Amino acid sequence: MNQIEHLYRQVIMDHYKNPKNKGLVANPAYLTIHLNNPSCGDEMTVQMHVNNDQIVDIKHQGTGCSICCSSASVMSVTLKNHTLDEANQIIHEFYEMIKGYPYNPDILKGDAIVYQGVAQFPARIKCATLAWKAIEQGMIKIKEEQPNG
Ligand code: ZN
Repeated sequence: MNQIEHLYRQVIMDHYKNPKNKGLVANPAYLTIHLNNPSCGDEMTVQMHVNNDQIVDIKHQGTGCSICCSSASVMSVTLKNHTLDEANQIIHEFYEMIKGYPYNPDILKGDAIVYQGVAQFPARIKCATLAWKAIEQGMIKIKEEQPNG
């Protein structure tokens, strides 16, 4: 393992052991999405609060492997306080990176880049993207519910 991979693994383990924005809230203003990943046994619930097209808060609670649980923490930190359009772009770049394709580092910033090594382990891609897919579904639902589409 080279130094960069070692550093990335440390960041992942840090989010796994000390997750940010973990824990669900009983607030009807939050939209709740639950997804699972049968191939690994990961379960993930994500909550999002959107106000004026901006994601003002993200919560998550899940059980599963370190990649999945840490990625939910990283997702919450990465997307919080962005507009829905910005969040969609960031998620797109994250998926590109996870698949091993070039991504735009001006859009995808911060701890999310530590998952780029996952591209070498196709079985773990679903783990790394589960929380991101949950929030993506939530955003689609919110867009659908908007009166002017
Ligand atoms: Zn997993």
